[in-house]
Amino acid sequence: MLQKESFGAYTLFTLSNGALRLSVTDLGATAVSLRFGGRDCILGYESPAEYLAGSAYLGATVGRVANRIGGASFPLDGVRYALTPNEGPNQLHGGPDSFDKRRWDAEEPGGDALRFTLDSPDGDNGFPGRLRAAVTYRLLGDTLRIEFEGDCDRDTVFAPANHMYFDLSGGRRVLEDELWINAARYVEPGPGLIPTGRLLPAEGAFDFRSPRRIGRNYDHAFVLEGEHACTLRSGGLQMELYTDFPALQVYAGEFLAPPFGPNQGLALEPEFFPDSPNHPDFPSVTLRAGERFSHWAEYRFAAL
Ligand code: BGC
Repeated sequence: MLQKESFGAYTLFTLSNGALRLSVTDLGATAVSLRFGGRDCILGYESPAEYLAGSAYLGATVGRVANRIGGASFPLDGVRYALTPNEGPNQLHGGPDSFDKRRWDAEEPGGDALRFTLDSPDGDNGFPGRLRAAVTYRLLGDTLRIEFEGDCDRDTVFAPANHMYFDLSGGRRVLEDELWINAARYVEPGPGLIPTGRLLPAEGAFDFRSPRRIGRNYDHAFVLEGEHACTLRSGGLQMELYTDFPALQVYAGEFLAPPFGPNQGLALEPEFFPDSPNHPDFPSVTLRAGERFSHWAEYRFAAL
């Protein structure tokens, strides 16, 4: 079932199938709420003004390239592209006023799905080519599936992500949550959280190969070993995340600002490695003209 209501100058679309109830706005193609088992499992704001003013990317579709690009520049086929920085000298989540702050065009394909498309002009925050991005939210029983697509009229880089913060317990700090991550390595962060280029073994505090309490702050990219990326458990609910993206950024919400507090949500972002355009040995985010980008993530819910 699909309902629509106004959300300030934007629209809030609500899909429900009996198990899940998902609200998404065309502002940033952003997931505002996701109810399962009588609880809202993600963080969301009440108004578009808070989304437009915020820098936490709550539930948003981020892009063109999620995560950080060091020095806000990258080479492609011998040409260096200068991007608009928005975090010191670096670019985070596509730069200022990027995909998360845009109005996307909504389509209603039916079948418990919503599709959003965005035209990103040539030179958008410095990225080459006119890019057409699309994101589809789909309810499939107890599963939310998100599909990302894109194509460009020039060779470019493209690596979007969804940025939901999970709060399965309905208010308890997420450091108490139990997490399992299918990763034997993580991306070593350097200054400004720009990767050094090394992948380190996920040992000690980075070893989540047995489920355990999160316990401390993280803002790290884990290298996934398979499509079952992670399982989060809290407050009697479980969320299993499956994806074909190669990495999972885990950010424990240390800097979440009012109306939320530190560690009130856990950002689990299936995406490419940070700063991929500057690391030829990381999985490539190059999108050639005429090629189609296509990746997905599934969030499977259960009551324990
Ligand atoms: C990043 C964090 C950042 C957060 C909100 C996450 O994807 O890894 O460093 O603080 O987004 O901007």
